[in-house]
Amino acid sequence: MDCIFCQIAAGRVPTEILYQDEEVIAFRDINPQAPVHLLIIPRRHIPSLAHLSEGESSLIGHMASAANRLAKSEGVSEKGYRLTVNCGEWGGQLVPHLHMHLIGGRKLSGKLG
Ligand code: AMP
Repeated sequence: MDCIFCQIAAGRVPTEILYQDEEVIAFRDINPQAPVHLLIIPRRHIPSLAHLSEGESSLIGHMASAANRLAKSEGVSEKGYRLTVNCGEWGGQLVPHLHMHLIGGRKLSGKLG
């Protein structure tokens, strides 16, 4: 198990867990790009969005629901925030375990790439 996010999900790396249920967990990004920068990950190791089968697509909805809940508890729901899933090398994915970034707490640039 050399995946850092699997280790966090397994409780092997001390991390403040902000939300968890049977499918996903959420914690703060170690290198935040904004006042609020959280990661929502599935407990199960899925290398990227490209590895998600059609039958598993409800997982993304589940992650987005968790993100909405966290946006409220982090106080960014009203002003707005961004959810991002980087996929693969050219998509800027560095950690090969599916994750959703929740970024907010300041006005974000319109740039996407
Ligand atoms: P990505 O480029 O989409 O793969 O983003 C991976 C994110 O994971 C980056 O924003 C990193 O700062 C973050 N990250 C890497 N290791 C950890 C860690 N141990 N705890 C929290 N965030 C991490």
